[in-house]
Amino acid sequence: MNQVGKIEFRKINRISPSQFYSMKNCAYKSLLAEAFGKKPLLPISPNAYFGTVLHKMLELISKGAERNEEDFNRMFDEQVKAVEENLQKQGYDFFIPLQKNVKDFGMKKILLKKHLRALLEQSPKASSVKYHSEKWFESKDKLIAGKIDLVIEAGEEAEIIDFKTGAITQDVLDDAGETFSEVKEEYKEQLKLYAYLYYENTGRFPTALSLVDLAKQKFSVFFSQSECNSTFDEAKKLLHSTNESIGKRTFAANPTDANCKYCLYRPACSFFLKQLETDYSFNDVSGSVMNVVKYQNGNVSVFLQSEEIQLTVTSFPSEKYDELNDSRSKQISIYNLRKEATEFVFSATKTTMIYE
Ligand code: SF4
Repeated sequence: MNQVGKIEFRKINRISPSQFYSMKNCAYKSLLAEAFGKKPLLPISPNAYFGTVLHKMLELISKGAERNEEDFNRMFDEQVKAVEENLQKQGYDFFIPLQKNVKDFGMKKILLKKHLRALLEQSPKASSVKYHSEKWFESKDKLIAGKIDLVIEAGEEAEIIDFKTGAITQDVLDDAGETFSEVKEEYKEQLKLYAYLYYENTGRFPTALSLVDLAKQKFSVFFSQSECNSTFDEAKKLLHSTNESIGKRTFAANPTDANCKYCLYRPACSFFLKQLETDYSFNDVSGSVMNVVKYQNGNVSVFLQSEEIQLTVTSFPSEKYDELNDSRSKQISIYNLRKEATEFVFSATKTTMIYE
């Protein structure tokens, strides 16, 4: 059975623009990530692992590393293989092959290829236009730093482009109750931080901030210099207060459904575990093992007593019986379950993990 062990909190030396929003939502998550050397305690969805392949490919295309479809196919296979090897090392074989476990694998590959074709068909670039891909920018005090996907400089103009492999916008309601689509707040803040970093390194602000998705749609992020300055100050203050909280033991945790659902450090979060004692809306459960039953078909069910009620988790494979049976009367937490139609009944999935 998995164990979290003692958590040794460490100071976070710097944050990247892409981490800022997550830290704002729950600073404790960033501290846990640092304490565990950024090694998640739970598997993420196979789509997210595939997302890293897509992003790497977009970077390679924009760098001009792929000159034809043959290069593309070879590099794509290499990237997928590297991610699969990594998954195997982490014991997440159930996601391999990615092709079978990822939604729209083929469609996303086709969309990527269109990026390549568009680049190849582009008229020769004017010699005065400079393209910098995957360029590292850091603030002078080194507290905020990150790699910008693409910077295009042409005379007085400079555009910062960030590639996204998932949805860039989300539906929001206006004052009159009408729905409209808007670039996600986290991406706006990320780009404003990049703009500030660009300014600190070059002495001028970019003239455009853009997000590009897999379908080659481009979204502009409107910004002012003062917005970029204040986002940068806010990020530094947040980093400082988060680091201070280690010594003072006044952690800023924010256990909400939206924050915790995809947090990969849930097993180590005492705030989340406390919440789990009385909140059964998550796909995780926690309680004391009351009974373990192995059925004729080999399936194993475990019955847990939580603070108020009894919870049932079905569909464990027979190999889990001994481990669960040895945990009778112990407090355990089970993550990544499927909720069944009957209240307080859950079933194990291939990504389910148990922690003591
Ligand atoms: S589980 Fe929730 S409260 Fe705990 S660190 Fe993660 S996001 Fe924050």
